Amino acid sequence: MQEKRNDTFRRLKVKEESETIDQKSEEVKEIDKRILMHIVEMTYMLSQNKFANGRIGYAIAHCQVVEHTPLKFFVMQRNIAEQYELPAVIYNAKITDQNEPYEVLELCLSFPYHNRAKITRYRKIEVEYQIEEKGKLSAPIKKWFGDFIAQLFQHEIQHFEGDNIYNQFLREKDDNNKTAKPKTAKKTKLIAKKGDAKND
Ligand SMILES: [Zn+2]
Repeated sequence: MQEKRNDTFRRLKVKEESETIDQKSEEVKEIDKRILMHIVEMTYMLSQNKFANGRIGYAIAHCQVVEHTPLKFFVMQRNIAEQYELPAVIYNAKITDQNEPYEVLELCLSFPYHNRAKITRYRKIEVEYQIEEKGKLSAPIKKWFGDFIAQLFQHEIQHFEGDNIYNQFLREKDDNNKTAKPKTAKKTKLIAKKGDAKND
């Protein structure tokens, strides 16, 4: 399937309700042509702010826009990145510590017709990540983030794992049911497919 590998110059769009966002993302080893082209597309998508239901996207993970071989990077809105003195593209991010769990309502561009999911996030997280430096990946950087930007990182890193907020919501609901009533029937872990789901 050699031709399937070449999506460098293909127009990308946000995959909605698609099972392909459940693929785990692979580590970025070098910032190659495919990544650079996809960053241009992803940056453009965010700048247009034209997503289903008129929702604004703060960031997009690579797995949300490609058909195959998703990589561990996400692109943020430029103004958000500037506000937190970060580059707009973050590579190979992973959470190394977290504290202060809280419940929050969240949305995802890949599920534009779903309501907000009530999930657990952490107010403070320590993240290890890489950025671009003269066309190459920097050495790993470790930093604590809080509140909004911490929430954004948690959302995107969750996508790297092939996970999403609606799966998390179902898992947490399931756990609560188990704690409250041990005999409750097991809820399905998968998001039910909608008849009007949009796919590319
Ligand atoms: Zn999302």
